[in-house]
Amino acid sequence: MGTEFSRHADVVSYFEHVAANSKMVSYTDYGKTNERRRLTYAVVSSEENLRNIEQIRTDNLKSAGILPGSASPNKTIVWLSYNVHGNEASSSEAAMNTVYKLITEHPDYLHNVVVIMDPGVNPDGRDRYVNWYNQVKASPYNSAQDATEHHEPWPGGRPNHYLFDLNRDWVWASQVETQQRLKVYNQWMPHIHVDFHEQFINNPYYFAPGAEPYHEMLTPFQREFQHTIGKNNAKHFDKEGWLYFTRESFDLLYPSYGDTYPLFMGAIGMTYEQAGHGMAGLGIINDEDIELTLIDRIAHHTTTGLSTIEVASKNVSSLTSEFKKFFNNDKLTYKSFVLKGNPDNIKVLTEMLDRHEIKYSFSNGGNVKGYNYTTKKNGSMDSKGALILNTNQPKGKMVQVLFEPHTHLTTPLTYDITAWSLPYAFGLEAIASTSLISGNPQSSNEFLTNVPTPSAAGYISKWNSLKDAEFLSELLKNNIKVRYSENELSFGGNEFGRGSLIITRSDNKTNPQFDKKLTEIANKLERQLYASPTSYADKLTDFGSQYVHLIKNKKVAMLQGDGTISLSYGVLWHFFETQLKYPITSINTKNFSDVSWNDYDVLILPEGYYSTVLKEDNFKILEDWISNGGKLIAFGNAVNVFDGKEGFDLERNGEKENDEPDNKDGNDDNNLKPYAEREMDGTKEMITGSIYKVTLDNTHPLAFGYESTYYSLKLGGDSYRFLKDGYNVGYVKGDFESVSGFSGETAAKGLKNSIVFAQAMKGKGSVVYLLDDVIFRSFWQNGKLFMANAVFF
Ligand SMILES: [Zn+2]
Repeated sequence: MGTEFSRHADVVSYFEHVAANSKMVSYTDYGKTNERRRLTYAVVSSEENLRNIEQIRTDNLKSAGILPGSASPNKTIVWLSYNVHGNEASSSEAAMNTVYKLITEHPDYLHNVVVIMDPGVNPDGRDRYVNWYNQVKASPYNSAQDATEHHEPWPGGRPNHYLFDLNRDWVWASQVETQQRLKVYNQWMPHIHVDFHEQFINNPYYFAPGAEPYHEMLTPFQREFQHTIGKNNAKHFDKEGWLYFTRESFDLLYPSYGDTYPLFMGAIGMTYEQAGHGMAGLGIINDEDIELTLIDRIAHHTTTGLSTIEVASKNVSSLTSEFKKFFNNDKLTYKSFVLKGNPDNIKVLTEMLDRHEIKYSFSNGGNVKGYNYTTKKNGSMDSKGALILNTNQPKGKMVQVLFEPHTHLTTPLTYDITAWSLPYAFGLEAIASTSLISGNPQSSNEFLTNVPTPSAAGYISKWNSLKDAEFLSELLKNNIKVRYSENELSFGGNEFGRGSLIITRSDNKTNPQFDKKLTEIANKLERQLYASPTSYADKLTDFGSQYVHLIKNKKVAMLQGDGTISLSYGVLWHFFETQLKYPITSINTKNFSDVSWNDYDVLILPEGYYSTVLKEDNFKILEDWISNGGKLIAFGNAVNVFDGKEGFDLERNGEKENDEPDNKDGNDDNNLKPYAEREMDGTKEMITGSIYKVTLDNTHPLAFGYESTYYSLKLGGDSYRFLKDGYNVGYVKGDFESVSGFSGETAAKGLKNSIVFAQAMKGKGSVVYLLDDVIFRSFWQNGKLFMANAVFF
C-alpha cells in the first residue's frame, strides 16, 4: 500500500474483493461519471447491523422527521468521502487501508456504528492524475521538486470531467457525480461526514475544528462536537509524533462544500487535509527538507478516519439525540420565502430543490409581507403563482441558509464567497416572511401543447430565459431558419419583448416538414408558440422589418489549455454542451497561430492570463480577425489583455482617488498598523463574492430578455471605466451598492462608475466584455442568457 498509485478500477476491484469476503461489508454502485467510471459506496458494519440495515436506515430518517413515524435510533451513521479532488490522491488509497483495518482490527467500533465509504467521489479526476503520474514518473520515483512527476500539466486532476470543483457543487448539484451522490446521501442522512483532502506539501495535517467564520445556523452541539473529534484525532497523532493544526483555516460558511452541506443537513461535517496534492507523487522532499511519502499520507488519513469512527461509537446517544433536535425548525427567523418571476428560472430552481428533497408549494394569491429583496426593506408583494418555501420542514435550516437575504459574518476572511442568496442568483422578486405562508403543491402554470398551423405566416416565441436559447439552438441544429427582433413586437393583440424569435414560413419554404418539426421541438422544450396568420404587425415592426435579423448558424470557438483558467473553461464547456446544447470547437492555446480563424464567427476567451498566448503576432491575428467581422467574447479577467490597447476602448478606472496622506506633514498613519493587524486590514481591498445591482441597457441585444436591472456576483475589485465609443450595456453608475455579501471599503469605492457588460465595435467586428462571471459555478442561473445573447445576437 502506497508504493504505487491505484487506478480507480483497482480501487473498485479491491472493495469488491473485500465485500465478497466479509459479511461486514456490502458494496453498491450508485452511478457513473461522464467518462463512464463507476461511482460506488460501501456500507460497513457488524453482521447483525447489516442484516437490519434497512431498519437502521429508516429509523434514522424517522428521527429526523423525513419519514413518517417515530423511532429512537441507537446506531450512528458515519460517512467517509474520499478523493473529491482527483489529484489529492492519497485518500482513495487510504479508503482501502481504512476498510481493511476497520474490519480486521476494529470490529468493536461497528457494533453501534454504520460506516458508509465512498472510495472515489471523483474517479475521472483521480484517473487523470494517476494515469499521468504513472506515465511520467521515474523508477524508482524521484523526490526532487524539480522532477516532471511533481508538475501536473493543465488542467490537473483536481476537477471532474467538465473541470468543475466537486467540492463547491454539493448544493448546486450541476454535476452528474453530485446529482447521483445526493440521492444516496438523502437515503442515509449521516450523523458525521468527513471529506478527505490534501493541501500543499509543506503543511502539517489539518483536522476539525474549522476556522471562523462559522455560519450562524450551526448548533452549539455541532460546534462543540468538532472539538470532541479533533481531540481524539490529536490523541492518536500525538502518540505517533505527527504535526497537525486546527481552527486556523477552512471556515464553515459557504454551503456547497463537503463539510458545510452535511452540517446544514444535521451532521457533523468536516474536512481533513493531508499534505500532498498533485505535487507530491510517491515521494517528495518538501521545503523543510522532509521527505513526504504516499505511505505516510495514507497512514495519516487512515488514522483520522478510524479515530472518527471510534468517536462515533463512543457518543451514540448524544449524536443521535442532537441529530433529532437539529431537525426541529420552529425557531428560525424566517418562516417562509416567497419568490416570483421568470417561470423557467423557477423551474430550474425547483429541480435543484428536488435533488435535496426540500419541499415547496405555490401560492394561491394574496399579498405577502416581509423583507423585500428588491427594495431592501420591509414591504409587500402580490404572491399569485409564486413559489413558497417554508422553513418548518426537516430541511428548513438549509432553506434559510440558501434563501435568506444576508449571511451573517463574524469575519470576512473566508475561503470562498460570502453571498449566494438564491432569489438574486435566479433573478426573482422575493419576500422573506416571519409568518408562515401556505400554498398548493402544484404550480398553476400550465403549458398548452402547440399544434402545427400550416396557414400561419410565421410563429413567434418569447426570449426570456436560457430555455428559450436552448430552443433556438435546437432549431438551428435542425436547419430551421430563425430571426430575432430588435424591436418590441405586437401581433394579434399579443406583445413580445426585444429578442423574441420569429420563425417564418417564407424563410423555411423549402422544408416541407417545417410546421411539424417546429411544433415538435417547441413541445419538447415546452416553448409556447404564437402562430400569426400574417406578417403584418399590429404596430410598426413586421416580419420583414430591417430590425428583424436572420440568425446565422454561428461557428463558435473557445480557447482552452495553458493560459486559460480551467474552472472557467470548464463551466463554459459544460454550459454549451449540456445546457445550451450548441456545438463549439475547443482550441488549445498552443495551436492559436495555426488556426484558420476565418472559419469561425465567435471566439470565447474564458478567464485566464493571455499575455503570453496573445503576444505580438497572435494579437495581430486576433485583431485582424475581429476587424474582418469576428466577434470576441472576453470573460472575467480575460478582458485584462485588452486594457489600454489601441482600438479596444477599454481602460481601467484610475488609482483610488484617496491617495492623499492623512496628515499634512506627509506622514501616513496607516503605516503604523501593527503587524498582527495587517491581515484584517487587507480586507478593505477585498470583495469576496458580493451581490450588487447592475443597471442594464436592455435595448441592446446583449441584454435582450432582461429587466432594466440585474443582480450580479462581484468576485474582485477589477474596475474599468465606461467605454468612450462602444456600448455600455451593464454598468454601475455612481456608487457600488452591495445587496448581500462582503465588499471591502476601498474595493467598493473603486467600483464607482464602472462597466460590467459592454461591447466595443472594431472594424466589421466587435469585442464583448463580460466582466462578472455570468454563470458562476453554473448556479448563477439568471446570468446565463447573457452568454446566449452574446453568441447569437
Ligand atoms: Zn481538496
